[in-house]
Amino acid sequence: MDQEATLVIIKPDGLKKSLTGNILTRLSEAKLKIIGAKVVKVGNDLANTHYRHLKDKPFFKELIKYISGKLHGENRVMPLVYWGQAAIGKVRRIAGATNPEEADPISIRGAYGRILTTGLYENVVHASSDPDEAEREIKLWFNPEEIVYDLYPAKEEKSNNQNRRVWQ
Ligand code: UDP
Ligand code: MG
Repeated sequence: MDQEATLVIIKPDGLKKSLTGNILTRLSEAKLKIIGAKVVKVGNDLANTHYRHLKDKPFFKELIKYISGKLHGENRVMPLVYWGQAAIGKVRRIAGATNPEEADPISIRGAYGRILTTGLYENVVHASSDPDEAEREIKLWFNPEEIVYDLYPAKEEKSNNQNRRVWQ
């Protein structure tokens, strides 16, 4: 299995419940490298683009409220890029199943997630599920300069007389 990158997002409930340290400790079991990390304020556009493939699901509206912090009065999330051998599968395993009630109780979602009365799974973390999704998501949440490795082709672009790197 090749080295690969994956996106993790600590969702608003993870930040609100002060779980950042616990989550990073659990993820460190995978012995992957963090090659990008930041705190981001999530607006409607970013939320809709991130979850655009789920827009026909009955829980979509609630999901957008969730990821953009409207359920927690907390619109910060913490995206991270992890890199290494079989990173996508390793992170998904530590994150646990989507439904926190079905997730392994010692996974992140099993330990800290819950199901809201609306039915929404409030499950603390996002994790990319395959290489195509990981690439799309990493490019959406990070600029090339914010990642330590050159994961994907990028190019110079001039804006306001300044050069910056953007994804090709
Ligand atoms: N979700 C939900 N109900 C469902 C399926 C998903 O509330 O029946 C939420 C949950 O927060 C999940 C997110 O929508 O993490 C994205 O769904 P996806 O199927 O991509 O699950 P994931 O990849 O996050 O495990
Ligand atoms: Mg998914």
